[in-house]
Amino acid sequence: MAVALAVSVSLNAASLTDVVELKPPTSAASVREFHGHSDPWAVLGARIGDHAVKRLGLEKKMGAFVLVEYDSKLPMTGIADGLQLATGATYGRQSIVLVQSTRLRVRVVSTETKKGLVFRLTESARNKFYQWKSEGYGYEKQASLVVNMTDGDLFMTEDYEDR
Ligand SMILES: [Zn+2]
Repeated sequence: MAVALAVSVSLNAASLTDVVELKPPTSAASVREFHGHSDPWAVLGARIGDHAVKRLGLEKKMGAFVLVEYDSKLPMTGIADGLQLATGATYGRQSIVLVQSTRLRVRVVSTETKKGLVFRLTESARNKFYQWKSEGYGYEKQASLVVNMTDGDLFMTEDYEDR
């Protein structure tokens, strides 16, 4: 006799009641504490994450999926730490993925609405990061320069929809 066994394990965000809330803006001090030192890329990640949280309405920590394509010519993997802190995506929940590329591109998607944003550095920001590197600026100085740039100075956004 066949026994139909339907096991459904669902852990979607809507069924969870004690999910931690995000409170942008993420401070440069909290980024430093999480990442371990002042890092311009970690600060950039937090800035991108904060922007995505506000635009996409991701006020709960379980709501974001983040894909980071990073430019391997620049030491920018710290961006993942700022993004985790600001969006609540974590490696433990497999809600953030880091992929080596030739350019920086960050996609943040709402797991609820499937709508998202794609972020790219502006040409002038990209030039500045290269310039700071070639001129030997320390990370602390670079991080404070990023803190003082506007979102529009730093990145461009494009709408995205997961189908
Ligand atoms: Zn770092």
